[in-house]
Amino acid sequence: MDGLHPAAGSQKLSEIHGNIWKVRCTECGHVGANRAVPIPIPPHCATCNGLLRPHIVWFGESLDPVDLERSVSAARSCEVLLIVGTSGIVYPAASFAALAKEAGAFVAEVNLDPTPNTQIVDVAIQGRAKDIIPALL
Ligand SMILES: [Zn+2]
Repeated sequence: MDGLHPAAGSQKLSEIHGNIWKVRCTECGHVGANRAVPIPIPPHCATCNGLLRPHIVWFGESLDPVDLERSVSAARSCEVLLIVGTSGIVYPAASFAALAKEAGAFVAEVNLDPTPNTQIVDVAIQGRAKDIIPALL
């Protein structure tokens, strides 16, 4: 969603909440990268001149079913699930820890505060991701 995974070299991504560095045309549906900050107002599609919006999922909108199914499948088939920097209260992503545990995965959580998933994960570490993750590596 924030572009850090691709920047780090991750190649198998399911961005179920979209990507803030992409825009989507409200007319023709074209999706393209846009790293302009600030973005020109109003932003227009280069293809059809329709208005552009962030390519993210806002509250009340549906998740992309393909990305969601890919994520659920990954949670059900992974050996290790690392959950970093999330409150664990927004579904369906909040259910991935339970899905992975049910499938026998080792699940670790890194977050500032305990979450609803803290009680079911194998390891829960409270702290800032920027401090904890480098220490784990
Ligand atoms: Zn367009």
